[in-house]
Amino acid sequence: MAAHVSNARTMDILVVEDEPQLASHVVRALERANHDVVHAADGPSAVETAGNRHFDLVVLDVNLPGFDGFEVLSRIRAAGLPPRVLMLTARSEIGDRVAGLKAGADDYLTKPFALEELLARVEALGRRGTPAEQSSVLHVGDLCLDAAKRRFTRGGERIDLSPREIEVLHIFMQEPGRTFSRDEICERIWEREHEYDTRTVEIFIMRLRKKIDRKDAPSIITTVRGVGYHLEAP
Ligand code: CA
Repeated sequence: MAAHVSNARTMDILVVEDEPQLASHVVRALERANHDVVHAADGPSAVETAGNRHFDLVVLDVNLPGFDGFEVLSRIRAAGLPPRVLMLTARSEIGDRVAGLKAGADDYLTKPFALEELLARVEALGRRGTPAEQSSVLHVGDLCLDAAKRRFTRGGERIDLSPREIEVLHIFMQEPGRTFSRDEICERIWEREHEYDTRTVEIFIMRLRKKIDRKDAPSIITTVRGVGYHLEAP
């Protein structure tokens, strides 16, 4: 267990579990692994808590009072909230796992589980991180993106981008000149949200071009016919 503690990145974790004893075991195990943990015992309070402060991860039970874990998940995602979601499903609820992943969960764990297994999953999800956490400030030509602060400037001039637009641009700015297919972009950003398709990528590229391109110059996001897009260093 010492290895978990020493290697783990401290995360803000919301534990949503209505069974008091299990909830307290999980909370204490996560706290021992140096995470900051908040507990919610029903669907409505989980959604409210998730909306009120930042969490890196939500450990989410399926069967909850109020409304269930799927509803919590869909409301969290609908609000555009970033946390990773680890769903807890009962062994008899095999369909729940599939439903959970389809609804946007990042991983699931079948009850009953060993706390070591939970900690290992939590740690793995923490390592994946979100694009905003993976790097600090990126510079390409006169473009500057601080993904963590969701701040973008071109030539020193601030341009407001939505979180999704920042995620798309972040992909390009990490590897300028590399061509990304629509599928790859789609997969990286919308892997958890299966209702999206590659046309969504085209819409985001269009919106980005409108916002960040100079009016009298060719777009810095170049279409590579039949392949995808890449970023030209301006
Ligand atoms: Ca439950």
